[in-house]
Amino acid sequence: MELLVTLVLLGLLLSNNCSASVVINRYNDEGCVLKPELIREIQSYKDVTKLIMDNIKNTTGKEMYEEYTRFIDKFGARLSGSDNLEHAIDHMINMTHSYGLNDVTTEEVDAPHWVRGEETAFMSSPRKKHIAILGFGSSVPTPPEGITAEAIVVKSFTELEKMNDESVKGKIVVFNPPYVSYGVTVAYRSQGATKAAMKGAVATLVRSITPYSLYTLHTGAQFYGDNVIKIPTAAITVEDAHLLERLQKEGEKIVITIKMSNTFDIKKSRNTLVDLKGKSEPNKLVIVSGHIDSWDVGEGAMDDGGGMFISWFAPVLLNRLGLKPKRTVRAILWTAEEPGLVGAAAYLDKHKHELNDIDFIMESDEGTFSPEGLIVGGSNQTVCVIQEVLKLFSPVDKVEKSDGPGSDIVLIIKQGVPGASLMNKNERYFYFHHSEADTMDVQNKEDVIDSAAFWAAVSYVIADLSIDIPRF
Ligand SMILES: [Zn+2]
Repeated sequence: MELLVTLVLLGLLLSNNCSASVVINRYNDEGCVLKPELIREIQSYKDVTKLIMDNIKNTTGKEMYEEYTRFIDKFGARLSGSDNLEHAIDHMINMTHSYGLNDVTTEEVDAPHWVRGEETAFMSSPRKKHIAILGFGSSVPTPPEGITAEAIVVKSFTELEKMNDESVKGKIVVFNPPYVSYGVTVAYRSQGATKAAMKGAVATLVRSITPYSLYTLHTGAQFYGDNVIKIPTAAITVEDAHLLERLQKEGEKIVITIKMSNTFDIKKSRNTLVDLKGKSEPNKLVIVSGHIDSWDVGEGAMDDGGGMFISWFAPVLLNRLGLKPKRTVRAILWTAEEPGLVGAAAYLDKHKHELNDIDFIMESDEGTFSPEGLIVGGSNQTVCVIQEVLKLFSPVDKVEKSDGPGSDIVLIIKQGVPGASLMNKNERYFYFHHSEADTMDVQNKEDVIDSAAFWAAVSYVIADLSIDIPRF
């Protein structure tokens, strides 16, 4: 093998809700020393991976895609804490039984239930203009009469911090940060209200976190810091953020009235666990997962209907084919991911004494576009083994190393459990993410089927290997 150097790329994980930035190493197999018998063993899975993938690509994948489409059309958006989400969970449970897999359990989760009410913004100076807004999950409402204040536009937290408090006090802070990457720029959505409140602002409007806009609004979670006044916070479009910045540069006084109503309470929801019990080590788990909840806008087809469905399908399909690996393949349909990995945190809490039983944990929550490989969290030795496994799937064999792949699973990977998220051609993911545009039209049938085929076959091989995946 040609000598390659490991390139440390300044990459940022496209995690859905995590704002933490992580460095991704482009990995190569220099320094990977695997025993020849392990390499031979991995290569011996060629036929069975072909069997699984051919089955999905030629027949059962189409059926899965039809179920997926029906599910999205029937339930649409599946907001954390909503009755609709619980109905969607029931639907998945019933469907699992109808596909002949009866090992389905649920675990209760206290799910945030933030419900959007009416939201409007109107610029009255320097000219009259309706400004489209979309509140961020967990934002407080405005008083019923709204908040009317002068708006100031900043491009960064640094710019805000340099201003004296008097010039921010009582104002609406408009954040117009250029889109660098989701992982970097999402900080303005998740922490903008807190940073602005610390300077005395009364509300914030944040440019939607997207590289591309057709006057599209993108919502998402935000988190108030301790000991700060909670101020209303909402997305505006890229176009309006640019407009407001130009008006400010031209010396105009900008006055905006924002009205937002919403309610918040906690409801019961459930993580759903679908198990294909392993034939010789059933207590050991290879987890495949995606989240079943979504934001209230769009239909959660891409985020994360696709990832949830291909994960659900892995144990269901293997069971149908009569393929029982050594370890248990567990699909987890996480609940309440969008308000901040709430379902995953509950799972970790409940199972924290059994983390040694998790051999490998996978998640697809960054799109189910054309699959390319895996983004792996673990030691170099973890990556060496996974890279060898992916040689079975060439050209879907790219491996990147990351400190925190996925979204929900990051919580468990941080505990020292190795895992991976689906790498796919998701360059357009954030065009649609958390917006009304996240519908079935984003999805491509062949890509979703290819992702499902790769996902099921990879999980089978890992669950059946004679060795556990090396840990950190
Ligand atoms: Zn997601």
